[in-house]
Amino acid sequence: MALIVQKFGGTSVGDADRIRAVADHIARTRRQGNDVVAVVSAMGKSTDDLLRLAGAVCSTTPPPREMDMLLTSGERISMSLLCMALADLGVPAASFTGSQAGIITDNEHTRAKILEIRPDRLSAAIAEGMVPVVAGFQGMSTDRDITTLGRGGSDVTAVALGAALGADVCEIYTDVTGVFSADPRVVPTAKRLAHISFDEMNEMAATGGRVLMLRSVEFARSHHVPLHVRSSFTWEPGTWVVEEDESMEQAIVSAVTHDTSEAKVTVAGVPDRPGIAAHLFRALADRAVNVDMIVQNTSANGTTDISFTVPRVDLAAAVEVAESLRAELGFVEVTSDSSIARLSVIGAGMKSHPGVTATMFETLASLGVNIEMISTSSIRISCVVDEAVVEDAMRAVHAAYGLG
Ligand code: ADP
Ligand code: ASP
Ligand code: MG
Repeated sequence: MALIVQKFGGTSVGDADRIRAVADHIARTRRQGNDVVAVVSAMGKSTDDLLRLAGAVCSTTPPPREMDMLLTSGERISMSLLCMALADLGVPAASFTGSQAGIITDNEHTRAKILEIRPDRLSAAIAEGMVPVVAGFQGMSTDRDITTLGRGGSDVTAVALGAALGADVCEIYTDVTGVFSADPRVVPTAKRLAHISFDEMNEMAATGGRVLMLRSVEFARSHHVPLHVRSSFTWEPGTWVVEEDESMEQAIVSAVTHDTSEAKVTVAGVPDRPGIAAHLFRALADRAVNVDMIVQNTSANGTTDISFTVPRVDLAAAVEVAESLRAELGFVEVTSDSSIARLSVIGAGMKSHPGVTATMFETLASLGVNIEMISTSSIRISCVVDEAVVEDAMRAVHAAYGLG
């Protein structure tokens, strides 16, 4: 008998029919002799609706504590409805908020991290033959306030519960049949991958492949939780995220991702002397601005330009921080561009194959796409390009690597 954590995303519990279909699937999984713990997201796009409501009553940034109280209500709706649907099928179930499930987080409202899980109530419910249905994306802080784990955070809830309960597998049910070689909504020829390594999945999640939240992948890897991404519409087997097997031949390129959530800041005419970058990036870190790619030009006449990317939501803060240092650092100006996109290709086999980068650059050149920034890891190449061309570029790069 296996213990299976099944997480259902927003579309999977989007209306009453979907919730009944999910209850059916849980009942079937139990009939096959398994114990099930369910984790649910808020129905459909209801988290976005709640965010809009908050914006409508508050013209400044809403108090983060109240934002979390508001946002966690979405998952409470789906967890109780799913328990009702299970009751209708004669399956004993009980819903638990993150706090009731023993998920203890730090005090960083709207992006809290899980510190500890005390799953005794869930274990007791399982022992009594029940299905615990847990509200995803939330916990209780060490200050005993309600917190959320960041957008897409139900994936983290599921993986963390899988680890805490020693589950045999954590199944992530969503609206696509697995992890594809590119977002199938952008690249119609994308193929589902039967397996993907944790390394590759990590790079995908970090560069815009939103099918799994980044922290859930890191957590699954460090706690050895087998992950299976699959569809709640067809229920067919999906993609297994696995530890890389050295005996396996690695695909040179497995996937192409794109991310339009970042913006670029350029600090121009910076004196080229030691300590300038340290000063600038320390000041950004102190404002909790997360800097991603950084490029510094070779200097001409003793000055240089430094460009870096930040999340678009942090752009105003980043520009403000840079501007505040203008006199002190003696640079000429700060400019920014919020219509950039990052296009990445990912593949574990890249490590041992030369020429992978050239194919990407040649493909972009043939489309007349200008590359604004470049960064690489041993299994990834990323280029910053104009947001307006990124989807076409993605389809071309996907084809150039023969992924379709
Ligand atoms: P859920 O609400 O179930 O958590 P998400 O919207 O967070 O679902 O994630 C699923 C979506 O991720 C898919 O609908 C798909 O458009 C998108 N996606 C982006 N990149 C990929 C990829 N490489 N493979 C599969 N899906 C992807
Ligand atoms: N409902 C939350 C969100 O939309 C959490 C999740 O779905 O994982 O981000
Ligand atoms: Mg998601």
